[in-house]
Amino acid sequence: MKTLKLLFITILFCLIAPFCIGGAKSTTSAENLSVSTPKMSIVIDDFGSYEQSGVEKLLSVNVPLTCAIIPHVDNSESNFKEISEHGHEVILHMPMESHVKLPENWYGPVYIKNSDSPEMAKQKLEECLKEMPSVKGFNFHIGSGVSQNKTLMKAIYEFATEHELYFLDSKTIETTATVDACKETGSIYLGRDIFLEANKNRSYGGVCKRLLEGAKIAKEKGYSIVIGHVGAEGGENTAKAICDTIEEIQKMGIEIVPLSEIYEQLKVCSSNNNNIK
Ligand SMILES: [Zn+2]
Repeated sequence: MKTLKLLFITILFCLIAPFCIGGAKSTTSAENLSVSTPKMSIVIDDFGSYEQSGVEKLLSVNVPLTCAIIPHVDNSESNFKEISEHGHEVILHMPMESHVKLPENWYGPVYIKNSDSPEMAKQKLEECLKEMPSVKGFNFHIGSGVSQNKTLMKAIYEFATEHELYFLDSKTIETTATVDACKETGSIYLGRDIFLEANKNRSYGGVCKRLLEGAKIAKEKGYSIVIGHVGAEGGENTAKAICDTIEEIQKMGIEIVPLSEIYEQLKVCSSNNNNIK
């Protein structure tokens, strides 16, 4: 019986290992299984804002996108409805304070401040989620100050676990405390690989190039997460670039999936690794 159990665990590990360790380079038959198909998530930030350029085009894309909505702003409610109707995944785009002073209206009416207590941060998240029931996860809008604060980031990961949500680290600053906070709370780490409009380059060609970079990372690592924007940060160019590049990404053998799918897969890998230890 013990031998059988060991055999089962070994087979299971072989099947999911290419995704877990990101090394789908060896040519085993397991590569043909969907579990080892490289996956890429395209997250689109800044839904909800009054600036709606690119929204219509993106919602009609026929691959699942992951759409992040700023809470309590002009179009939060209407975008939530539209995104859900089109079958894309919705996440909360929680405004969190920058490390530099920014105009209040860049955040919206509710945002986590650098000076908030962990309890206050959790309360604000709770409040914003009420507007968007059934979301699968959240990431942050701005957030370069809060993400350097380990106490707050630990509270954010705790909140995610308590509410069975995933948290995506958008990595808006280099010196982030998210990885440490994630480890210390025993959470699953999801981090952005590419910003589609990096260095404020919002050109059509630039976004296409970065989408393909994201696809390459997915091939190497087993998965990748790219973030683009609707509205002023990206808008129509980003939407058109995504529409025009999807086919090429798929031809590279990459599946575009909602972020929750990558999260669930990483969870399986993590518990499998723990079992093997
Ligand atoms: Zn944002």
